[in-house]
Amino acid sequence: MTQVRTRFAPSPTGFLHIGGARTALFSWAYARRREGRFILRIEDTDVARSTPEAVQAIIDGMAWLGLDHDEGPFYQMQRMDRYREVIQQMLQAGTAYYCYTTREELDALRAEQEARKEKPRYDGRWRPEAGKTLPPVPAGVPPVVRFKNPRDGVVAWTDQVKGRIEFANAELDDLVIARADGTPTYNFCVVVDDWDMGITHVIRGDDHVNNTPRQINILTALGADIPQYAHLSMILGDDGTKLSKRHGAVSVMQYFDDGYLPDAVVNYLARLGWSHGDDEIFSRQQLVEWFDLDHITASAAQFNTEKLLWLNQHYMKQLPAAELAALVQPRLAARGIATADGPDLTQAVALYVDRCNTLNVLADAVEAFYVHVEPSAELLAQHLSDEARPALADFAAGIAGVAWEIPAINALIKETVARHGLKMPKLAMPLRVMLTGQAQTPSVDAVIALIGRERVLQKLAREKI
Ligand code: GLU
Repeated sequence: MTQVRTRFAPSPTGFLHIGGARTALFSWAYARRREGRFILRIEDTDVARSTPEAVQAIIDGMAWLGLDHDEGPFYQMQRMDRYREVIQQMLQAGTAYYCYTTREELDALRAEQEARKEKPRYDGRWRPEAGKTLPPVPAGVPPVVRFKNPRDGVVAWTDQVKGRIEFANAELDDLVIARADGTPTYNFCVVVDDWDMGITHVIRGDDHVNNTPRQINILTALGADIPQYAHLSMILGDDGTKLSKRHGAVSVMQYFDDGYLPDAVVNYLARLGWSHGDDEIFSRQQLVEWFDLDHITASAAQFNTEKLLWLNQHYMKQLPAAELAALVQPRLAARGIATADGPDLTQAVALYVDRCNTLNVLADAVEAFYVHVEPSAELLAQHLSDEARPALADFAAGIAGVAWEIPAINALIKETVARHGLKMPKLAMPLRVMLTGQAQTPSVDAVIALIGRERVLQKLAREKI
């Protein structure tokens, strides 16, 4: 059996967006599933719009998601000689021809066709045919090269996602494959690359469906094997419209910035248009064991931020606390918060992870262990009641001498509320607010234990109780 070879072929004109990342993921997962090869190809022939920064953003985004490639990156701009060579071969074989039609002639042709209410198309005036006399070659007109597309019949393929797709050859005019300056055109480069790279499965966005019949015809003319095609439907935003910048985080690295874990994003993207029964949560390894082209949906997938957050929290909870701490620490450092002198960050994140769905939210939550977060006047007014003050003062005195462990601290809280005839929240709430600046925290005894005696005393002393 031939080895499966897939590719991801982004144009480096911007960041790696969510749609591109999903295409990369599906191509990667399919290659891994079939023990094939995954190739990265940078389609940088649009020189005006391609940038080295965008190439780097694509490579970084894929590395962050863990989508490792086996071959490449290949750059189309470095393959120009090869494209020219194939163009020469096609000219010799008669599957391509020089066309000397000038821009003015093409404009005139278009105007005539439009006047007749016909679809504008090249009329084949330079297309060689048996028994046809071609016009005399004009002086000083650099020719383009056109592909001699079959005139009759249909070009069809069984799309792995969309089913059978068919185009009438009569609908396709003779594509320019090399411009007058000799540079090859987009569809042609893709064909030569897919051929040279032995691509067996082309998995890409369905904005390329219209390119496929042309590409198949050129591949056929070259005597190349035709790959399988799987065209992925677009991704819609949360609101059901086409995913765009308006929806906020569309760059993959934005998800990194926002505190998502790559495993969560990979799991989430896998479910955007592919399914394995009712499974929502699966590891990368399961994805690789299960991924197939049969269960890609033909309908558009809709982005759901809530679901991504839910998955992210799941993966955060799965991580050993020390690893989680190692991810949160640089986020705190970026805010100028050093953790070395404060409580153990591993214990802090372990205490808070259940209530946080991104690394950033977790960093927000544990921040109060390392810098004093001044409680808002509003929170203080709400919780620091007159009946709580004597109990708080009492508690502060007790805390100075208590054994520093959760059960002892817990016992001290209980004794204090009992002695003052209060309900637990009357003491616990102002403590939370005064110690962390937040009204919602995990169990207050655990929070106190983690903050440490010195700091607890300092923080309590800041508010007049
Ligand atoms: N370079 C194309 C793009 O970024 C993809 C081409 C392909 O997959 O055939 O949309």
